[in-house]
Amino acid sequence: MSAKQTPELALRHGFRFPDLYDRDGLVRLDGVFLEHLRERSPDLHGRLVAARHDPAAVPGKAESELIIAVAPYLEDFVGELFGIERELRAHQAKHAVLAPLFTAKRRFVQKRVNAFTPEQLAAIDPVAVAAEFEAITQDPLTEQSYAEHVSRWLEAEAAHAPQLKLAAEYAAWATRTPEGQAKHAKGVLFKLPHKLDMNRLVPVVQLTVNGTSQFAFGPDRHRHREGFHLTDPGADLTGALDQVSYCIKCHHQEKDSCSTGLRERSGVLKTSAFGVPLNGCPLEEKISEMHEVKGDGYSVGALAVVTIDNAMCAATGHRICNDCMKSCIYQKQDPVDIPQAETRTLKDVLELPWGFEIYGLLTRWNPLNLARPYPRAATGKKVLVVGLGPAGFTLAHHLMNDGHTVVAVDGLKIEPLPTDVSGVDPLGGRHPFR
Ligand code: SF4
Repeated sequence: MSAKQTPELALRHGFRFPDLYDRDGLVRLDGVFLEHLRERSPDLHGRLVAARHDPAAVPGKAESELIIAVAPYLEDFVGELFGIERELRAHQAKHAVLAPLFTAKRRFVQKRVNAFTPEQLAAIDPVAVAAEFEAITQDPLTEQSYAEHVSRWLEAEAAHAPQLKLAAEYAAWATRTPEGQAKHAKGVLFKLPHKLDMNRLVPVVQLTVNGTSQFAFGPDRHRHREGFHLTDPGADLTGALDQVSYCIKCHHQEKDSCSTGLRERSGVLKTSAFGVPLNGCPLEEKISEMHEVKGDGYSVGALAVVTIDNAMCAATGHRICNDCMKSCIYQKQDPVDIPQAETRTLKDVLELPWGFEIYGLLTRWNPLNLARPYPRAATGKKVLVVGLGPAGFTLAHHLMNDGHTVVAVDGLKIEPLPTDVSGVDPLGGRHPFR
């Protein structure tokens, strides 16, 4: 949070910033949340308390349903705690605005574009079709306007048959011709999943240089790197929600292979075309559930689902690991780009006022984590973690939340960040972030 925007963090319910780092403070916070939930949904409150009493006895599907149901209440509570209700509502509204894109893609574009023969496709005049669409709708033809009109027409399909025929012609041209694909290369509405060729997973072009074959990316995929600056901005909200919508939320059938691995009927893990076992996410992150909550517009709730199993998600996401994608139920066409959806979910929270503090809080207090909603009482044990790669810092995180005192060392020289950036001074005192 920039000091210019909000100089002081004023938490509600009588909490102070250091309380968010103190076990007693987090236990108290959890109690206030449970009361918040009980007032709004006594049934959900009862189910959550019972599930926490014996987490091991809760079947996987019931746990999924419970955390998905509680997540919006958690988001409301966090918004209230940090005083950002207005910003959260505005962020949720962005999801609602984009929703027609994914409805139109799923219910119309994907279903209609293959009905055209090559001859019919060649006969489509995109300029004339677009002009007619704009004349009918009195709107410029953009992906958003197309999706909104088509979604409305689909509500009374028979009455809008001519309009839908025109829209189908445009969709066929946009998805199946090189010109249409080039025009909509930056959008999501007319981009359909491709069949996978396991021997050509990377789209390279073959060149012959000095009589030798070489593979290279086409110029459209070249990226200029400047120092250590990132060359991949990641998906924006539209791109991430496109993936969330593509996901079929397999946890409902207890077949979320992205999380738990892709198995034969016998229960044995399947292997990829390259003989690699399809284990799914090494952390068994609740991906399908995260997608459902994110798709409903709750980014804080979705991040809370992620942090149950992957609290250090800032170090995973789309640049680090894609074991989940490899085990996605879609094995013959593009898998769901889960890391992009996860990264966007984290970024959406970080971009909220006090977003960093909210993410940090969810790594210590997470009511969706049935087994350990807040750190366990101090055990008196001291642990030295040697090596602070992803495994080391994740281990340190779990040990700390299990009540142990942790000291960690790494071969690299780790400089402490300035207090207003890290939120902690060299003596362990807690301070609001810049
Ligand atoms: S990401 Fe793939 S495997 Fe996972 S829930 Fe979605 S469709 Fe199913």
